[in-house]
Amino acid sequence: MRFILLFLGLLVAPRAVVLTRRFDSEKVFRVKLQNENQVDFLKDLASTVQLDIWHPNSIHHVVVGTDVDFRVGSDQTSFVQTELEQNGIQYGILFHNLQEEIEKQFDGGRHFREKHSYTRYNEWEKIVAWTERMAKKYPKLVSRVQIGKTYEDRPMYLLKVGKESGKKKVIFMDCGIHAREWISPAFCQWFVKQAVRTYETDKVMFKLLNNLNFYILPVFNIDGYVWTWTEDRMWRKNRANTSNSDCPGVDLNRNFKAKWGTIGISHKPCSQIYCGPSAESEPEIKAVTSFIREHLSSIRGYISFHSYSQILMFPYAYKDETAPNNDELNKVAKEAVEALSSLYGTEYTYGPTATTIYPCSGSSLDWAYDEGIKNAFTFELRDLGKYGFILPESKIRPTCRETMLAVKHIANYILTSAP
Ligand SMILES: [Zn+2]
Repeated sequence: MRFILLFLGLLVAPRAVVLTRRFDSEKVFRVKLQNENQVDFLKDLASTVQLDIWHPNSIHHVVVGTDVDFRVGSDQTSFVQTELEQNGIQYGILFHNLQEEIEKQFDGGRHFREKHSYTRYNEWEKIVAWTERMAKKYPKLVSRVQIGKTYEDRPMYLLKVGKESGKKKVIFMDCGIHAREWISPAFCQWFVKQAVRTYETDKVMFKLLNNLNFYILPVFNIDGYVWTWTEDRMWRKNRANTSNSDCPGVDLNRNFKAKWGTIGISHKPCSQIYCGPSAESEPEIKAVTSFIREHLSSIRGYISFHSYSQILMFPYAYKDETAPNNDELNKVAKEAVEALSSLYGTEYTYGPTATTIYPCSGSSLDWAYDEGIKNAFTFELRDLGKYGFILPESKIRPTCRETMLAVKHIANYILTSAP
């Protein structure tokens, strides 16, 4: 009996995540900034109090009219609240106790902790083992290649998904360039599963996999992702040493050679949007850019997955000007978003990054586009801030199901229209 109870205990134990960094009594605020004075006020506040800006990605991107979500340490919350009130800033509190919410995100069912699951968040070790398993289980559709190593020497694995047959068009997709955006790697895993499982039953998928290859990097920023599981759930950058030993990490999505180091970035290592010492300084970026350059002759599409804010974006990010094929990108994005919304009514906006959210340089999207991949898109997946980066596991399935519709639409467009 005792054995059975123990066994049941193992079975139903909620997944305890041992994080050395806790977020007890930390709050996440949302403020609405209505004029320049309020923007200046928040910028001043950010220079005196440590604010972890969740949305937009940095205080640099804050302008009139933006909703700004930010996390404040427990010792500063009452000060911040008083300041907001005294300055007449409209605000709401998204999370009163972040630690509690972090624990609540693991609501994806109670199973053996050791097992990989598509409806739960998986640690990196499980994802690695999964990549190997998928290649073994579906040898006719999936193969695995290593494209490089991370700063901390972890192998970067890419899955090639598609029926082997001569030279085909390729769509490159990556997930998890920002470590704390966990729904993103969950989507890449979901995509691979859905592709191989529906290949024979879904006409569109059959056509796509017969005529296209998807190259999928399930976790781009592996070191950062591991760090979010073991040390700091709110980590965004990679784990490289910088010139400031207190502030490791480069924002990988500011490190690409796309007007690197110019706009919407910081040259300070402690910033969340630190662009690194030079373009492509990071091993993760070198691995991805050399791989893509080697395969440029076949790559027709590039799609990157982030969270959160429900937006589908296309170039440019580093300038306000529209891309030469803006009309086409706009049309594809509009249709993709309509397909996505058709399932649960989830509302997405879409448009060029610079004018839809904010301008920034060094992004993968612009780099891919400037390399000649004319169908380049970036998703900001669910949600709109109710859960932000800690979207509960129970939302993985609906998020992935609706996103599949959008991605299939883009892929089908690329297959049938792109030269
Ligand atoms: Zn991101």
